[in-house]
Amino acid sequence: MPKGETKPNIVSLLPAELEAELAALGEVKFRAAQIFQWLSRGVRDFGQMSNLPKALREKLDGRFSIHEPKVLSKQVSALDGTIKYLWELADGNAVETVVMRYKHGNTVCVSSQVGCRQGCAFCASTIGGLVRDLDAGEILDEVLFSQLDSGLSISNIVLMGIGEPLDNFDNVMRFLRLVNHPDGLNIGMRHISLSTCGLIERFPELAAQELQLTLSVSLHAPDDETRSKLMPANRGRGVDALIKACRDYYEQTGRRISFEYAMIDGVNDSPAQARLLAGHARAVAAHVNLIPLNHVEERPFRPSTPEHMKEFIRILEQQGVNITVRRRLGGDVDASCGQLRRKMQTKGGDKA
Ligand code: SAH
Repeated sequence: MPKGETKPNIVSLLPAELEAELAALGEVKFRAAQIFQWLSRGVRDFGQMSNLPKALREKLDGRFSIHEPKVLSKQVSALDGTIKYLWELADGNAVETVVMRYKHGNTVCVSSQVGCRQGCAFCASTIGGLVRDLDAGEILDEVLFSQLDSGLSISNIVLMGIGEPLDNFDNVMRFLRLVNHPDGLNIGMRHISLSTCGLIERFPELAAQELQLTLSVSLHAPDDETRSKLMPANRGRGVDALIKACRDYYEQTGRRISFEYAMIDGVNDSPAQARLLAGHARAVAAHVNLIPLNHVEERPFRPSTPEHMKEFIRILEQQGVNITVRRRLGGDVDASCGQLRRKMQTKGGDKA
C-alpha cells in the first residue's frame, strides 16, 4: 500500500477475494464479477460502475482506494515505434513502462518497484535506492493502461522494468494471478518473463508456485570477482550458488532459464569469460541473451566493441550454447531501465 494510503487498492484483489469482501459487506456474490469486469476494462471510478446500486458504490468507496495512473510523459520511438510511458501513481511517485513491437506480438516491460535497492553498478534504476514496492494493482495498471492508451493489444509481458521482482515477491505473484485471470487480461504464463538479479533464496518458493513463466537471470558476469563488483546481490551468494539454484529451479519446473548478459567493454567480455559463461549455460541448459550495454550517463561503463562481441559470440556458439543477441529498441526514447524516471528526478520532479 502506498505510504499515507489507508485503504487497500481494489485493483489488487482477485475475483474470489472480491466475493469475500462483498459477503462481508452483506452484498450478493455476483457483484464481484461485475466489479472485476469494470476494473479489467480500466474503469477507475466507482461512480461509473453503472450496474451497481448507488449504496454499494458508496460502500466500496469507503472501503477501498481506486486510482487511474496519469501519463506524465509518453515518448514514441521514430525508429521502431517503441513507446515509453512514465506514469504518475496515486502518491505522486512515478514508474516507467515500455511497449515494444515485435513480429510475434506486442510486449510490455513493467516496473515492479519505485526505485530499486540492488545497487547494480551499470543500472539507472537503482541510483536513488528503493522508494517503495508497487502493489499488484499498480503493476497490473501498467499493462492495462499501456494497452488502453496505445490501442495496441499486449500479448507478452516482461518484468524487466524498474525494481527487483523477487524483492516484492507477494505483490508480484498476485499481479501474475491477476493478469493471467481468464476474466481479466488473460495473458498466458508462457507469455510472461520474470527477470531477477539472482535472489536465490526465493527460487524454491517461485518454483513451488508452478507457474509456466520464463525465469530470466541477470548474470552479466561468470566469475565472482567481476559479478560482485557489478552486482552487489552477488556478494554473500556467489556464482556457484546461483548456478546451482538455477539448476534446481530447472529440475523442479522443467522450464528453461535464460541468462541476461549485458556486454560491457573491458569488464565482462573477454574470451576467458565467454568460456566460463558457456560452462554455466551448459550446466543448466540455459539460453543466453546478449545485450549490448546501454550507456547510462551517471555510470562509467561502455558497451563492448562489435569486434569483442563477435569473438564472444563465436566462442559461445562453438561451445554449443543457445544464444540470441537482443536488438536494441527505443534507442531514441531512453527506453532502458530507469533512465526516464531518473531524468525527471534530476529535474526535481519526483515525490520520493
Ligand atoms: N531487477 C531485475 C529486473 C530489472 S532490470 C533484474 O536485475 O533482472 C532488467 C534487465 O536490464 C536486467 O537484466 C538488468 O541487469 C538490465 N540492465 C540494467 N541496466 C542496464 C544497462 N545500462 N544496459 C543493459 N542492460 C541493463
